[in-house]
Amino acid sequence: MIKILIVEDERPIADLLDMSLTAAGYCCECLDNGVAAADAVEKQRYDLILLDVMLPGIDGFELMEFLAPLEIPVIFITARSALKDRIKGLKLGADDYIVKPFEIAELLARVETVLRRYHKTESRIVLDDVVVDTQSRVVTKAGAPISLTAKEYNLLLLFLQNKNIALFRETIYERVWENDYMGDSRTVDLHVQRLRKKLGWQERIAAVYKVGYRLEVKDS
Ligand code: CA
Repeated sequence: MIKILIVEDERPIADLLDMSLTAAGYCCECLDNGVAAADAVEKQRYDLILLDVMLPGIDGFELMEFLAPLEIPVIFITARSALKDRIKGLKLGADDYIVKPFEIAELLARVETVLRRYHKTESRIVLDDVVVDTQSRVVTKAGAPISLTAKEYNLLLLFLQNKNIALFRETIYERVWENDYMGDSRTVDLHVQRLRKKLGWQERIAAVYKVGYRLEVKDS
């Protein structure tokens, strides 16, 4: 399981990160200061660190100098949107930068991208009797291969990476079609319907009134 260390002293934000990433299938640990984080990375192996800049004691930038030689992927999370901070973080060796407030979908996409860069993504995603092999892009249901178009496959991955999160049609369109949303929701609706039918997920992929869709995973 992919293990993520969250270093954030603002409790509500740490909880939000923990909840969202846990729901997406990651194993998370939260610490609220840099000293504890430095101790933790010496004792344990993490696949990714989400690091707040403004921390009591050792701040995120100082901690980054300690982390850089360890070659653990780091994404800075901070309220400071100033360009110089962004550049400083990246120069210190961070892999990405997220500015608070952020959207959960954006956070998950960035986490996924950084993990993929380090070849740390899980290659098998399982939900019910559906198994997705992200390396071969083969999807099976109860052991039988399901034929999905490229867009349907990307849509399925997006849902699996955002379990229990309501996704706006606009967000779905922009992530799956990698285009700006022009207000035509029929494309998204059509693909969702086809995906539901192919996977037998009429209940799983719930319509969210005036928003879009949500993959319901009650037991995770
Ligand atoms: Ca802080």
